[in-house]
This record gives sequence, C-alpha cells and structure tokens, in this order.
Amino acid sequence: MSSSSIVIIGAGIAGASIARQFASRGRAVTVLEREQPASGGSGNPVAVVRPEPGGADNPIAEFSAAGVHWLQDWLARHGASVPHAFCGAFRMTRDERRHDKLLAYAETRSHNEIAEFSGAAAAQLCGQTPAGSGFFLPQAGWLAPVALVHAMLDHPLIHVHTRAEATRLDQHPDGSWQLNLSDGEILSAAQVVMATAYATQLSPVPLAVDRARGQLSVVPEQADQAIHVIVCRDGYITPAINGVHTIGATIQYDDEDASARRSDDLENFQRLQRLLPGFAKDPGVVRSGRVAWRATTRDRLPLVGKIAEGLSVSVGHGSRGIACAPLCAELLVADLCGEPLPIARDWLTRLDPLRFGPR
Ligand SMILES: Cc1cc2nc3c(=O)[nH]c(=O)nc-3n(C[C@H](O)[C@H](O)[C@H](O)COP(=O)(O)OP(=O)(O)OC[C@H]3O[C@@H](n4cnc5c(N)ncnc54)[C@H](O)[C@@H]3O)c2cc1C
Repeated sequence: MSSSSIVIIGAGIAGASIARQFASRGRAVTVLEREQPASGGSGNPVAVVRPEPGGADNPIAEFSAAGVHWLQDWLARHGASVPHAFCGAFRMTRDERRHDKLLAYAETRSHNEIAEFSGAAAAQLCGQTPAGSGFFLPQAGWLAPVALVHAMLDHPLIHVHTRAEATRLDQHPDGSWQLNLSDGEILSAAQVVMATAYATQLSPVPLAVDRARGQLSVVPEQADQAIHVIVCRDGYITPAINGVHTIGATIQYDDEDASARRSDDLENFQRLQRLLPGFAKDPGVVRSGRVAWRATTRDRLPLVGKIAEGLSVSVGHGSRGIACAPLCAELLVADLCGEPLPIARDWLTRLDPLRFGPR
C-alpha cells in the first residue's frame, strides 16, 4: 500500500483546480483519473463562461459573476497556454416580461456590466442580426476547457495517475482513507476529495446529483458572416474559433446514448434560428460536435464541501462547471486550510453537499 496525504478523484476542471489550490499552498497532491484528464464534461472543445445577469435575489447571478471574475484573474496570470477571449456576450430573453425585468436591473448597473442593445446597434454589436433586442454582457467570453484543465494540473507538486479508477473508498479506524484502484493498487490518504461529477457511488453518504446528456454542434466559419460576440438565450453560438462556430447545447435526462445524433444537430439548428434567424438557411451546414454529460442538482448550484472527516466533494457543477468550479476549488481548499475565503462565508452553507439531505 502506498501513502499520499492528499488524493483527488477525477481530473476534470473540478479536480484539476482543487489540485492546483493545494499545490499552490505547497501541498503535494495525487490526482486519480479513470481515463485521461478532461475526458468527461470538461473535454468539450469550447466553453462559454458568462455571468448570469440578475439582482441580489438571484444566487446563480452572484455565483456565476464571481466565478467568471475569478477565472479572468487566473487566466491573466497563468493562462498563456489556454486559448480564450473575453469578447462579451449578447444575451436575449425568452419573453417581454423577462426583458423588462432585466432592463430594470440593467438601469441600476454600470455599462461595464450590462447594457441594453436593440435594432441596428444590436446587429452591429453581434456582426449578424439577432432575433430581438437583448443585453450586452462585456465580462463574458469563451475558453478551451481541455487546455484549462492541463494548465491547472501543470504544477510540480501535482502527480496525475491516469487509467486509475477508484473502485472503493473506506475509512480506517485512525481516520485515514483507503482507496482501491482498478489496477490493483491500494492508496491511503489523510485527505480525499471526490471530484467525479455525477459518479458519486463511492461516497459513504448518498449525494443528490443527476446526469443530463448534452450535444454540441458546429457550423463552419464563412468569410462574409462574422459573429463578433457570443450570442445566447436558451443556448448559444460562439464567434468562429479554429474555423467553426460552436452551438450549444441539447439537454436530455435519462439518456445514455454516447453517440452524436443528427436529431440533436437539428435541435441545435433550431436553437441557432432563435438566436440569429438569418445566419444559416440550410440545416445541412450544421455538423455534430461532442457529446458529454452534465452533473445536475435540484437548485442548479454544485455540491462543494466536507461530507466526513478527511473527505470532501466538489460535484454537480451542471452547465456552469467551467466557469464556476475553479472558484469552488479555492473556496473548498481555503476553508479546509482555515484561510480567508474568496467569496462570502455563507456560500459554504449554500453549496453544502448535504443541503438536500441524503438522497
Ligand atoms: C454539452 C455540454 C456543454 C457545456 N457547456 C458549458 C459551458 O459552455 N460553460 C460551462 O461553464 N460549462 C459547460 N458545461 C458544463 C461543464 O462542462 C461541466 O460542469 C464541467 O466540465 C464539470 O467538471 P467536473 O470536473 O465536475 O466533471 P468532469 O469533467 O466530468 O470530470 C470528472 C472526472 O472524474 C473522472 N472519474 C469519475 N469517477 C471516477 C473514479 N471512480 N475514479 C477516477 N476517476 C473518476 C471522470 O473520468 C472525469 O474525467 C457543459 C456541459 C456539457 C455536457
């Protein structure tokens, strides 16, 4: 049996950013990954990172804004190898009532955070004519998640053990944890963090996480059809990145099909029509992108924190994990180390992994 004082299970964005937080405090970490880093939800070629607009009564707005701000800061210092651009997003709403609510909010905020655009000004902002008026969110952007995961793991104190699935987790009478791996190895650790998205079966306490399939689609870049900003509503299209615009994403519960489906591309084509109706007339231009699963929770906030002595989790990051899991990593590790937190202390309660009670 080998001994490692801190073991993280899962090398997606959640696990990689937790490992980086420990490493940057001088603590050596072993990361166990059943496949390769960024082989789950964090393996998409592109992710949109955008603050959800809204007032103080909207926890997702506060949380996503803090997450994007955290990422911008980290990328400015360590992100040279991570393709990204904070180009801003044009956000439309589903109906007039929601538009008016957001307009009332926008009127109380600075234009550096949110500003209404309509008509020709909106078309000029987007590069293409959007389906309606909406709001520009200048803090939003896109990044390449796989490169972000690798950049987070790139630290001399982080050891990544690939093709190593943790198959069993037991606590010894002395409080330490024993992990059995699929390759027969047994590890013991004083501190374990599960960052396994929806795969929470190792947890000694049942956790309320579901999974939802999603498929991205892509449209080839056209020289005379530039899109300058992310255009979004109940989905998004990005500016051209490596020759394609990414459209995201379908969402299906109880769907285990890992293959890309034409029907999902057609659904994403409909999404594109609701964003930029004149951009593509022929559904034939839409090609399949990646299929992956989101780990979802009832209140759309992740489960982050301690569940037993020496055992913590960071799972259930839903549709915003790339934007928010790195901030959660600092919250978790700063709390475990007894240091000042990156956001208000009450977020420890709001993200408490056992807030719904055992499933
Ligand atoms: C189609 C789609 C589009 C999305 N778009 C966006 C977006 O635009 N912006 C955004 O912010 N978010 C987006 N998301 C969400 C985001 O991708 C996820 O929230 C995020 O990747 C979750 O990261 P994670 O580290 O928690 O999980 P994952 O990336 O899934 O990582 C978990 C890792 O744990 C490993 N693992 C599991 N069990 C074990 C075990 N027992 N032993 C060892 N390893 C194990 C897995 O192999 C995996 O690599 C999207 C998701 C999908 C599906």
